[in-house]
Amino acid sequence: MGSSFAAQSGLLDRFRAPLRVWVSRALSAHMPSLSAALGDDAEVHALVDGALPPSIGPAVLLAAPSDLAPSNEPALRELVQAAEPGRLVLYGGEQDRAVLLTAINHWRVFRLIPSITGLPAVVDAIQKAHETTEMELALDFGIRDLAQQNEHLGRTLERLQRTRGQLLHAERLTTLGRLTTGLGQALESHRVATDDLSAASKRITLDAELLDVVERTLEGGRALDSLLSDLLYFAENRERPLHLAHHDADAIATAALRLAEVDPISRKRNLSISLRSGSFVCVDRYAIYQVLINLLRNAMQATADGGTIELSTRLVDGEVVFEVTDNGSGMSPETQARLFEPFFTTKGRDGLGLGLRVSRLTVERHGGRMECQSALGAGSTFRLFLPISAH
Ligand code: ADP
Repeated sequence: MGSSFAAQSGLLDRFRAPLRVWVSRALSAHMPSLSAALGDDAEVHALVDGALPPSIGPAVLLAAPSDLAPSNEPALRELVQAAEPGRLVLYGGEQDRAVLLTAINHWRVFRLIPSITGLPAVVDAIQKAHETTEMELALDFGIRDLAQQNEHLGRTLERLQRTRGQLLHAERLTTLGRLTTGLGQALESHRVATDDLSAASKRITLDAELLDVVERTLEGGRALDSLLSDLLYFAENRERPLHLAHHDADAIATAALRLAEVDPISRKRNLSISLRSGSFVCVDRYAIYQVLINLLRNAMQATADGGTIELSTRLVDGEVVFEVTDNGSGMSPETQARLFEPFFTTKGRDGLGLGLRVSRLTVERHGGRMECQSALGAGSTFRLFLPISAH
């Protein structure tokens, strides 16, 4: 199989090693006839005792039984190694069992030629030995070449995958940029309208219920403003400035839940809240609302009708922990590994895949961190940790 591969791939044509034969001193009498029989293309050299030829090569070594004697072993060993990948052809010794065993077991001779068979058998053995040497060289080269090409291909593939990821990201950002064109203007008008409503609600005396609705509308409007600004900043690859202030963490959780309840899907879910932090955090509250609303929305989308979602707060080792737990679909390890990648979504056209990415960036900019625990079919828990503020 190896030979047909080498032959078919044209490798052998590239490995026409010269036929070089080194003849042991014991057989030097045969050299002239051997040279004549092998033709002009062959180099036939005599081995001189105790001196290693300068460049032995890939070569065929023609040895006599006396060369295998233990006293000659070091010299022969050196020769065989120098001729790597050489072939040892033994001429004679067919009657001597000890020589035969040594030749086969110890020296792994390529061929043993009984002395009675004469020159043609020697020539044939030398030519076959040479062919296998060429084959071995060609295969060796082919294997190394393939390994190199493989490595090169692997590296190219890696680079391509990275570039592809970057291109995809850039392409999506461009699309997002196009989508958000005009958003800045719309946001500004929205901000003016929100401020007008806020000012009016302070001037006019409203009954308690109406005031509550107006306040929720205002808070919702600002949260929306914050969310859209974030998208705009993300599309423009800029960081949104944070307006930090000390806020009651439990109040933030309560407001975020109320805002999330504006989403009609919330009526088909059991949302609950558990407030146990009793602490303040130094945050841009609209930015944190947005993170919590995003987690609550994801939880609502991952649960079936009647599913339960809990938002809780608590204090652990000087950090406020906001936790959103749902009993929805949960996530496979593959999904969990990619959660925070930009534009990763399993919601097809309904998802943008930026919610968790932007949320994590927001939390990290507040000196906090986010984590997720989930198991397929067993729901998910997202936690965000924020440092407690010395209020
Ligand atoms: P999007 O909601 O636009 O897909 P996100 O970044 O908010 O983008 O979420 C990325 C993906 O994470 C979702 O598409 C979904 O596969 C998974 N995911 C997020 N929250 C949950 C959850 N509570 N339960 C199951 N999967 C979730």
